[in-house]
Amino acid sequence: MQEHSQVDLIVRHALIITQDEQRSVFEDGALAVDGGVIVALGKTAEIEQRFVAAKRIDASGRALFPGLLNIHTHLFQSAVKGLGEDMAVEQWVQAVTFPTAATMNAEEVYLLSLVSCLENLRSGATTVMDFMYGMRDPALHEAVIRAMVDSGLRGRYTRTIVDRGAEMGILPAMLQPAEEALAHAQALQAAYDGAGDGRLDIGLAIGVIWGMTEAGLRAVRRVADATGMMITMHVNETPYDNAFAQEQWGLNTIPMLERTGVLGPDFNAVHCVHMTDEDIALFVEHDVSVAYCAVSNMYLGSGIPPIARLAGEGLRIGIAADGSGSNNCQDMLETLKFSALLQKVGQQNAGSVLAQQALDWATRDGARALGLGAQVGSLAPGMKADFFLLNPFTAKAIPVHDPVATLVYSAGQANVDTVVVDGRVLMEDGQFTHIDETALLRETQRAAQHLARRAGTERLLATRASWRPV
Ligand SMILES: [Zn+2]
Repeated sequence: MQEHSQVDLIVRHALIITQDEQRSVFEDGALAVDGGVIVALGKTAEIEQRFVAAKRIDASGRALFPGLLNIHTHLFQSAVKGLGEDMAVEQWVQAVTFPTAATMNAEEVYLLSLVSCLENLRSGATTVMDFMYGMRDPALHEAVIRAMVDSGLRGRYTRTIVDRGAEMGILPAMLQPAEEALAHAQALQAAYDGAGDGRLDIGLAIGVIWGMTEAGLRAVRRVADATGMMITMHVNETPYDNAFAQEQWGLNTIPMLERTGVLGPDFNAVHCVHMTDEDIALFVEHDVSVAYCAVSNMYLGSGIPPIARLAGEGLRIGIAADGSGSNNCQDMLETLKFSALLQKVGQQNAGSVLAQQALDWATRDGARALGLGAQVGSLAPGMKADFFLLNPFTAKAIPVHDPVATLVYSAGQANVDTVVVDGRVLMEDGQFTHIDETALLRETQRAAQHLARRAGTERLLATRASWRPV
């Protein structure tokens, strides 16, 4: 009789979409997981001959996908969901986001961030890169990190550096000399790199060009080189970025980033809506990666970023929900669909971005954009066991024929019924296994109401109905 190896988890009888190099698909597939890593995958009969597991999940009728990557968000921003509708970005940050950020306390930030994490998981996202504002209070940073760890997600926490911009409404609570902010980022790296059993690491974020001095830009690059932390930054979300850079330095934003040494393979540019030919050539030359925030770009009326073109130039593209302030949720399936649709609109060509391309951005390409391509974004032996099961039996998704088309265009959160991160089953049959979601949602609603009152953002509702369910 053949020896069976003991593993932690077997998921069997699934249609497995691996997203590996060949885009292999296994019908009646199974996957064996041990120590948080995929040890084997193949036909169910073959896997069950080789392994026995402490836990088995029967995935009959369901499809198994690698976990999605949400490569840009602001988890705390669920605080402003429903408060700042219908404004352009500069007006919106000043009226809603900055007053909220300057008022919130650590307990509120924890709850609001944890809710954002749960929605990422509910929509199939297993890796999230957070872009936390440059708050002076270390407790606010630690609250987001704690929420990411407690949620069970894999993630990268990036700490913003903003060293000017008071005249643009950036409040004192979020402004700091670059050297101080960078010292804090390094302290976070020392304390939290590898937190959550190795699921979390730390990076650097540059808020926006109009929040930076030239010395600050150079300092960020210096620290990135010294510590190995990556750099992410909001770039050319609106034409104001270039107007500001021209006025300050006589250069557009991206040439200014090149002059200060900021561009490189470890640089991730968020938005990239307003791009010149020169900008694109510089991105290609420096092999930067791009975070595509389709829903946020539509929500704030920022424009259509030339993502299909950037992808065609060979740049690494990932997709992102952006914060719940400009989305207004963290639904990565919605983001996946709009990521394909917005490019089709921009190009006036239905064939410009195929469903498979959008899925690649959401999985393997997004992982490469974060330098995590050897760990997540596809399913193969040796990769992290981060995946979800899609149950198609809802009116939204049925009938199904092509699993990729179903995921990108017809699926919703109700179809994601099981989520595994690092080999740990975080959600099974639609229920979180580690968090009392109902209690969390009620507590967070109460906290958000209280915060809106203190931040003065409640007055934005003066002419509208105010909804207080708890
Ligand atoms: Zn953002």
